[in-house]
Amino acid sequence: LKIQILGCYAATPRSFSNPTSQVLEIGNELFLIDCAEGTQVQIRKNKVKFSKINHIFISHLHGDHFFGLVGLISTFSLLNRQNELHVYGPKGIKEVVLLQLRLADAYTSYPLFFHELTSSEPQVLLQLSTVEVRSFPLKHRIYTNGFLFQEMPKPRKLDFECASKLGVETCYFQKLKSGFDLVLDNGKIIKNEEVTLPGLPSWSYAYCSDTVYDSSIANYFQNVTVLYHESTFLESEAHLATRTLHTTASQAAHIAQLAKAKNLILGHYSTRYASIQAFKTEAEAVFPNVYLADDARLFELDDQERLKY
Ligand SMILES: [Zn+2]
Ligand SMILES: [Zn+2]
Repeated sequence: LKIQILGCYAATPRSFSNPTSQVLEIGNELFLIDCAEGTQVQIRKNKVKFSKINHIFISHLHGDHFFGLVGLISTFSLLNRQNELHVYGPKGIKEVVLLQLRLADAYTSYPLFFHELTSSEPQVLLQLSTVEVRSFPLKHRIYTNGFLFQEMPKPRKLDFECASKLGVETCYFQKLKSGFDLVLDNGKIIKNEEVTLPGLPSWSYAYCSDTVYDSSIANYFQNVTVLYHESTFLESEAHLATRTLHTTASQAAHIAQLAKAKNLILGHYSTRYASIQAFKTEAEAVFPNVYLADDARLFELDDQERLKY
């Protein structure tokens, strides 16, 4: 899993920072989460391949999360895209994009599908061989969803020593690795679990932006490997977080703790703060593995479920 941050600040684009957008690289595919103004410039600057983005997930219809969408959809056409593009987001997203295209007498060079969300319950949005994506409700000023990316279970590993002892010939190893049981020539049945070991653990990634603090949200992503959580404010501005339905760094860390997350990435910082270092310090008082998102930062998850950048 790679997480390319394109923008991670709240509100408006500035000359040196961008509002929210990020790309997950899973296998050979890229998944775009939120698409604020400037996203396609950030895609180019960070050398992300446009053609590998087939799914876009929009959390909510505040401008700092989707004002770049129609521009990106339009650019895909100028690049003569042919592949299907799937956009998942709150009801209304189709209307707002198509209105802009229609008034410009524009159309897309590729099939464009909208998957409009209205549910207040978690919902499976997408199932591929590599990953399953779910939405879950957040608590914000307008209808907002978080997204949970769950890697599909990895195949079990063959226990060579055990298989050989039981007289399994090497030509059957591939079949066992694929999860099948075996019937040997002498009629003996070898159950798959007898000769295989559990595969590597699968990772999961939860995205929470924007939301007010609510401990029940942690139930949607228990034991998550990486939690990206908004932290618009520091505790000194907790009253603003409550009023605007946002979260403080300390509250985000409490959510990570309640979810038993392995790693926490903070983002969606208010542009009122001169430095973001204080967000990490504040969160680390509650939860140990805190990372700061920043524009152009690329996180990579290793086999030990540790994040590097
Ligand atoms: Zn926002
Ligand atoms: Zn918002």
